[in-house]
Amino acid sequence: MKIAMYWGASCGGCDVSLLSLHEKILDLLKEVEIVFWPCAMDFKYEDVEKMPDGSIDICFYNGAIRTEENEKIAKLLRKKSKKLVAYGSCAIEGCVIGLANLYSREEILKEVYSKDVPGEDLPEFLPYLKTLEQVVSIDASIPGCPPPTPILEDALNALLQGRQFGKNVALCDECPRKDSKPDKIEIDNIYRWHEKKDSGECFLAQGIICMGPATRGGCKAECITANIPCTGCVGPIPKIKEQGISMISAIASIISNKNEDEVIEKIEDYVGTFYKYSAAKLLPEGRLKDES
Ligand code: SF4
Ligand code: SF4
Ligand code: SF4
Repeated sequence: MKIAMYWGASCGGCDVSLLSLHEKILDLLKEVEIVFWPCAMDFKYEDVEKMPDGSIDICFYNGAIRTEENEKIAKLLRKKSKKLVAYGSCAIEGCVIGLANLYSREEILKEVYSKDVPGEDLPEFLPYLKTLEQVVSIDASIPGCPPPTPILEDALNALLQGRQFGKNVALCDECPRKDSKPDKIEIDNIYRWHEKKDSGECFLAQGIICMGPATRGGCKAECITANIPCTGCVGPIPKIKEQGISMISAIASIISNKNEDEVIEKIEDYVGTFYKYSAAKLLPEGRLKDES
């Protein structure tokens, strides 16, 4: 089986995440032939152009589409691949780099380069960031920032065996703290994670925002096992369309009536808290601020 891995606008973490398979990567390599992986080996775009259409069995595309080059290679790899898989949150939803869509291209360039914006030899920086599916059709997606090892293992095995993958439960269902989550939570304050001594109980019950109730399970609660609340990188549970609004609604329902306004004001950065991964997908072709 021929596979390819490509990075668009990416931090590189998704490429590195394959190494989290440890020795299992050797089993994987027995079954596949890597025909294109620029992060790890010296391949040229001309090598891909010369391949017959549909000759790559599975191509994993990580990172979002931010430059003309990202877009061009996404289209090329779509043509050359039987299955194109969006790998990681940037490719699927835009992720943290998609938060740049809150600003116009000019604002970003001015902030980063002050006045000497690099010139002609670089690929065009597109007016806004797009997800992979906003550019080409995809056949599957492997969620996470980067995909947590349990999700990655399941997805890779499923893709090689041609079966479906992905859990249909909320993260809370597999959380090691779930027994300390009361049926009815009532909080009279909201804390950022570093502001409160962790009691070891459900983060939400402690007043610390944890995206678990609105997030799809499958990662085996990796962050919570490391005593860090979930930020929702795997995306929404399938039965809800919108993770951010679902979580805002969950938070609204547990705030005590006593000092409601004060508690709500303690939530800093709504977009960064509830839409950290999905802002770009939810603002298709749209920055909040226009370039004109
Ligand atoms: S999904 Fe996360 S780890 Fe992967 S490229 Fe994007 S920011 Fe990096
Ligand atoms: S809210 Fe967070 S800490 Fe509480 S049970 Fe759900 S995932 Fe676990
Ligand atoms: S606990 Fe949440 S943030 Fe951490 S890997 Fe799982 S889904 Fe992602």
